Amino acid sequence: MLSYAKGPETGLMESTIGRRLTEAAFRFPDRPAIISRHQNRRLSWVDLDREVCGWTAGLRALGLRPGDRVGIWSTNCVEWVLLQLACARAGMVLVNVNPAYRSHELGYVLRKSKMRAIFLWSRDERADYATILEEAAGGEKLDLRRVYLERNDLPAGQFGLEEDNESGDVVNIQYTSGTTGSPKGVLLTHRNLLNNASLAAAQMKLTEEDVICAPVPLYHCFGCVMGVLAAVTTGSALVLPNWSFDAGMTLDAVEAERATALYGVPTMFIAQLEHPEFSRFDLTSLRTGIMAGAPCPIEVMKRVVDEMHCSQITIAYGQTESSPVITMSQSDDPLEVRVSTVGTTLPNTETKIVSETGETVERGVQGELCTRGYLVMQGYDGEPEATAKAIDKEGWLHTGDLAVMREDGNCKITGRARDLIIRGGENVYPREIEEFLYTHPKIADVQVVGLPDARLGECVAAWIRLKTGETLTEGELREWCRNRIAHFKIPQHIRIVDSFPMTVTGKVQKYRIREIEIERLGLQQAARIETA
Ligand code: AMP
Repeated sequence: MLSYAKGPETGLMESTIGRRLTEAAFRFPDRPAIISRHQNRRLSWVDLDREVCGWTAGLRALGLRPGDRVGIWSTNCVEWVLLQLACARAGMVLVNVNPAYRSHELGYVLRKSKMRAIFLWSRDERADYATILEEAAGGEKLDLRRVYLERNDLPAGQFGLEEDNESGDVVNIQYTSGTTGSPKGVLLTHRNLLNNASLAAAQMKLTEEDVICAPVPLYHCFGCVMGVLAAVTTGSALVLPNWSFDAGMTLDAVEAERATALYGVPTMFIAQLEHPEFSRFDLTSLRTGIMAGAPCPIEVMKRVVDEMHCSQITIAYGQTESSPVITMSQSDDPLEVRVSTVGTTLPNTETKIVSETGETVERGVQGELCTRGYLVMQGYDGEPEATAKAIDKEGWLHTGDLAVMREDGNCKITGRARDLIIRGGENVYPREIEEFLYTHPKIADVQVVGLPDARLGECVAAWIRLKTGETLTEGELREWCRNRIAHFKIPQHIRIVDSFPMTVTGKVQKYRIREIEIERLGLQQAARIETA
């Protein structure tokens, strides 16, 4: 049998995010919609709908028009969700900006997305965002409205009715660092996102009785699609435990809100299981959830079932370009399937696994996973060549992930065809960091590789050759990186070297750099974790 699968055809939803919000407010008026624990705010579906109306009117009063791009550069908060839903109603395109971005990355995204407004908090304990924003603008006069969330300076308005939006309109741009060295904007429509959220929610059997605890970031599809839109399409409540991930606050939120579903990348579940006061929390309300975003260790999955009471936990696999979920297990699949595979192809979706020459391989044979259907992005913003590389003429999205399809249709992710490091759920492209480090005046050449890490799954290491006569310490280089790139891209291991291991034809042998570092740092143990 060939490694091709087609999920059941269940019919696609041809609605818009704004209309689905109206329906939720009508069907579940007084049930909880959003609970932001760190802001002490609780909104029912009716409250949420009303506030979104005000924000929609406010966006128009700012002078923004349908089709305009509106950025949000913030950690998790109620305002993030309000802006997401208001942009959708107003026919505008929300541009998610990673709150960890610093001036180098932000400057790129501001110009590339041509956003006309950006919403942000001026500062928090991590950074002074207002100053970084001005650095990113670099003295250039950008046509950009700055809306500071703490100032409440969005013009008030009442009549935030739905624009004439269509299901196929682009509503969101999510950045994913590309192999080309700079982040690429993934264009996603109402149809892409609503259908994906609702199909994934069905795998967990979510209803308005459920309470989803989402410590995952809203700027990423895990938060804004699997979190916000799964809630909008099912009426489940969405709980935000904190601005950014904190194990203790997540456990506390599960207990206090009687959460029934818990989301996270593997490292978040590990951090909770290892929390010194783990056993103090009452987690018996938990039933299901999603672990995704990086290879999920089987042992961790088992502990989440046994010790966190998530007896129906699922694993999802996908990527931003596919809205994001392609395959997922179901809450009632046998335990073996749920802990050791990423499940089967979702409804209305095709998958196949192909060899390097593009032929579909037999079941059980490794190849690159490709997917086709409503879930495939519209393309990369303003990058037709990169889009044509990712989506072939027959509409197949090539994920760059290596996988095996079992006889029973469940898939296992076995590696990556492309050069990508996943550090605790955050994607890091070696090429992007290499190009950034090249901009340092003392650096002649650089090679970035991923190393196994017991806690984060993988971490970043850089080998650096300096220009003749130059000196540079590890500490100096780290300091230089600090306000320029996101913290998770700053290499943990930096080694200044005279030369790189080369093949006879003069190609750098990255695998040798990896082997040498694993040996030197004693990481052999971490390299042997079994995953789904
Ligand atoms: P992103 O676009 O940030 O969502 O990252 C997507 C990438 O994360 C995929 O291409 C995979 O390499 C990886 N990934 C996501 N989910 C899983 C999973 N369940 N198991 C293994 N890798 C995963």
